[in-house]
Amino acid sequence: MSIAENIAGVERRIVDACRAVGRDPSEVRLLPVSKTKPPEAVVELAGLGYRLFGENKVQEAYGKWEVLHEQHPEIQWAVIGHLQTNKARVVARFASEFQALASVRVAAELDKRLQAEGRQLDVLIQVNSSGEPQKFGVDPDEAVALARELKPFDALRVRGLMTLALFSDDHEAVGACFRRMLVVQERLRTEVGDLSDWSDLSMGMSGDFELAIAHGATTVRVGQAIFGDRLDPNAYWPGITAG
Ligand SMILES: *Cc1c(COP(=O)(O)O)cnc(C)c1O
Repeated sequence: MSIAENIAGVERRIVDACRAVGRDPSEVRLLPVSKTKPPEAVVELAGLGYRLFGENKVQEAYGKWEVLHEQHPEIQWAVIGHLQTNKARVVARFASEFQALASVRVAAELDKRLQAEGRQLDVLIQVNSSGEPQKFGVDPDEAVALARELKPFDALRVRGLMTLALFSDDHEAVGACFRRMLVVQERLRTEVGDLSDWSDLSMGMSGDFELAIAHGATTVRVGQAIFGDRLDPNAYWPGITAG
């Protein structure tokens, strides 16, 4: 199956998942996640009208941006993985969206760098909805406190929340993660409603996007179901540094 056929299949499954719960498919945005895949794969999907691509590593994303931005200024990048403060400068330079905000320190650094670049960035707060210690993101109970601290940062357009649910076949346990996100979203709307409408809920990947849609996801981040199995992360980008 080609990438084009795969993404058409994912789009159909999104429509079906929406219909099954009475949602309008236009409420759900498909973010193709191109990590470990070469720029040509991104260009192929850009030719089908996709504009925004997700990457979890800043250096890999920046490397693809460098290769593509002159010939394909329409292609935009969403950084969806953990960010170290010292890479905020790079993200401020090229990314359109950052889905893994989890600290005031990173927010402050991003804002400073974005102000210097004269740019703005859409951001989502990453919440650790599964409680697994190895996962990034703020605890559900800490989201309100972090959100309140984001108010001074004009260059950050806060849109909502992102999570990685438990990686499991147990639908009940995965669904519980998604439901925790709805509780956090509701609290933010009541307690920090002047910062954002909190409407974007980025949750669901290749293995669980239909379940995420049933729980209200508005963005699903899908890699393998579109691009096939992940390649060796170093296969295409051995020498790229994000300088
Ligand atoms: C890789 C990745 C995805 C996509 O995962 P697939 O299983 O390939 O669909 C989604 N979100 C994040 C944060 C990722 O790193």
